[in-house]
Amino acid sequence: MKRIAILGSTGSIGTQALDVIKANPENFELEVITAHSNANLLIQQALEFKPNAVVIAREDLYEQVRDALQQEDVKVYAGTNALCSVVEMGTVDMVLTAMVGYAGLQPTIRAIKAGKQIALANKETLVVAGQLVTGLAKEYGVNIYPVDSEHSAIFQCLAGEFHNPIEKIILTASGGPFRGRTTEELAQVTKAQALKHPNWEMGAKITIDSASLMNKGLEVIEAKWLFGLRNEQIEVVVHPQSIIHSLVQFEDGSIKAQLGLPDMKLPIQYALGYPQRLKSDFPRFSFMDYPQLTFEQPDLKTFQNLQLAFNAMEKGGNMPCILNAANEVAVSAFLRDEVGFLQMSDVIESCLAKVAYIANPSYEDYVSTDKEARRRAAELISKY
Ligand code: NAD
Ligand code: MG
Repeated sequence: MKRIAILGSTGSIGTQALDVIKANPENFELEVITAHSNANLLIQQALEFKPNAVVIAREDLYEQVRDALQQEDVKVYAGTNALCSVVEMGTVDMVLTAMVGYAGLQPTIRAIKAGKQIALANKETLVVAGQLVTGLAKEYGVNIYPVDSEHSAIFQCLAGEFHNPIEKIILTASGGPFRGRTTEELAQVTKAQALKHPNWEMGAKITIDSASLMNKGLEVIEAKWLFGLRNEQIEVVVHPQSIIHSLVQFEDGSIKAQLGLPDMKLPIQYALGYPQRLKSDFPRFSFMDYPQLTFEQPDLKTFQNLQLAFNAMEKGGNMPCILNAANEVAVSAFLRDEVGFLQMSDVIESCLAKVAYIANPSYEDYVSTDKEARRRAAELISKY
């Protein structure tokens, strides 16, 4: 029986994780759930799953949640500090980081320092501070289990191979809704078009990142830290059907891949249940439904965000932190119709050029870099 805390239980990953827990009551117990502002759903989840503690990050919603759960045997907290303390609770074995963005960094660090196993969906944490976070995981003897489908695929391919060096990994990318578009066409795309992903239903931020290929850029950096790879060992291939979730090539030239229908419940369940593969009734893949699996080069000239991510990884230090902060600000501006699709890349590129470079950042350096990159990105956006 694993006792689970879910940071971000009201989101796309969070709600699917709850489905997995509900379907496997003999394997999992829900200890903690947290949300940013969806108090109604958080309350509903607490009534159904009866966790030990709930946290609503927005403090102005505290009373609403507390009053609704008055009759229940559940502790109710509010605020970002509470997010960091609930992950340390003695009754928690594993923390699923399913919140979005930089806000996941601090609670993830606190969970690692408390010796909790991590099921990591929040890729931004490893993009911002991969060296620090993976170093801490080693120091505290904590495993980080990937939830991102590509990284889960790689992790599954590595089972039984941990003594064999990796030659390279190949991350697959769907290419998003704008695959094949020209720069001129991308200048015209709307928020509504960008929010329609062909294969996956996800939160708004990652859906925009998928349309701009920034998601793949973040995943490249995430993979570097998760699997301890050199930059040149990571390749991206566009595979529009999203059936092959990623591949590993070993030193004898052999390649292993993991396949399945695009359904995040599978990687979530694998991370929560590891080393067990739990039975599921998820729809099964059939080759006859997909007579053609196809592959193409990513278009790095048109989708500049992916190139910017490679550049940031190459420079290292706090560059990926700058990339992430500028991207978070640019995406939320795009979602408010304040910048165009291509202007997001301009904002990120400018922040990478202007925010001071730090080769070996401390935690405090990441905090100040994030702040400065956000300030600069917001200033640029206000001029559009
Ligand atoms: P989402 O927007 O659907 O949900 C985000 C969750 O985080 C919500 O519960 C929200 O309340 C909470 N949250 C947001 N901001 C917060 C803050 N500042 N403080 C506290 N809580 C906050 O997002 P999602 O699509 O579920 O993605 C979550 C993470 O998982 C992201 O890092 C994303 O990149 C990653 N991921 C998602 C998918 C997917 O299929 N959705 C796939 C792979 C990786
Ligand atoms: Mg992914």
